[in-house]
Amino acid sequence: MDIEYVRSRFIKHFDGTTGSVYASPGRINLIGEHTDYNGGHVFPCALTIGTYGVARRREDKKLRFYSMNFEQLGVIESSVEGLKPEKEADWTNYPKGVMWAFGEKGMEVTNGMDLLLFGNIPNGSGLSSSASVEILTGYILRDQYGFEVSNQDLALIGQFSENKFNGVNCGIMDQLISALGKKDHALLIDCRTLGTKAVSMPEGVAVVIINSNFKRTLVGSEYNTRREQCETGARFFQQPALRDVSLEAFNAVAHELDPIVAKRVRHVITENARTVEAAQALEK
Ligand code: ADP
Ligand code: MG
Repeated sequence: MDIEYVRSRFIKHFDGTTGSVYASPGRINLIGEHTDYNGGHVFPCALTIGTYGVARRREDKKLRFYSMNFEQLGVIESSVEGLKPEKEADWTNYPKGVMWAFGEKGMEVTNGMDLLLFGNIPNGSGLSSSASVEILTGYILRDQYGFEVSNQDLALIGQFSENKFNGVNCGIMDQLISALGKKDHALLIDCRTLGTKAVSMPEGVAVVIINSNFKRTLVGSEYNTRREQCETGARFFQQPALRDVSLEAFNAVAHELDPIVAKRVRHVITENARTVEAAQALEK
């Protein structure tokens, strides 16, 4: 990753001026699937690949965005006034969503920005390039516009913008690990309390990510069905979330549940336990 080259591209696309450099990582989840929206634990780690940005606050209201990952789109222009998601805005809906979300949280963005992005995460591969763009935008706004906000808040703002501006019903894991990830550590996250614990990776260990070349299709509906099945399970046990159901309580009445719901519930309960155990095992 040659950051000087990325900076030179900013200079090229934005009138020969320069900006400040920012970076935020992508992530991989080691263990803890379908536990996040059930109030349970996840155990991801931040990656050495991510999104780099060169940015400069403007004195007027104009937004000018360029991504080296979408060169064919050129410079996409808009304004900080009346921020709303637009199809033509394409990828810029991610940084714009974060600017909008800052406003919704009482931190109104009144000045425009020139922004150039370069990401070395394959987009849409499940390594959370979108969350890294959101956190990166948060870093820029905090640094250049003087907002006082913690990294945890940046994660919540990123999730809020992805949910409400981009219409993606994601949990908190992606943004939280991008904002709080620590070098050579994995991060155990309690998705209910947002409590985190960094667990150091044993020396000489590498995380290997394999591209299965299996294309992700529109699984949104399946995902929503699964969330509903989990909610049905939690209601059956009269608990706020499946995280609160013990394996003993489940085993005692599993036969009374719809078989698919029972399968979902069992997965969440045992997966949550496995995730906590995995973190303890790694720590040892
Ligand atoms: P994932 O988060 O798993 O990589 P998503 O579909 O959630 O996949 O997010 C991918 C989208 O995020 C891209 O289509 C693009 O709109 C935006 N994005 C990610 N990285 C960049 C980048 N470097 N430049 C511009 N847009 C980006
Ligand atoms: Mg994403």
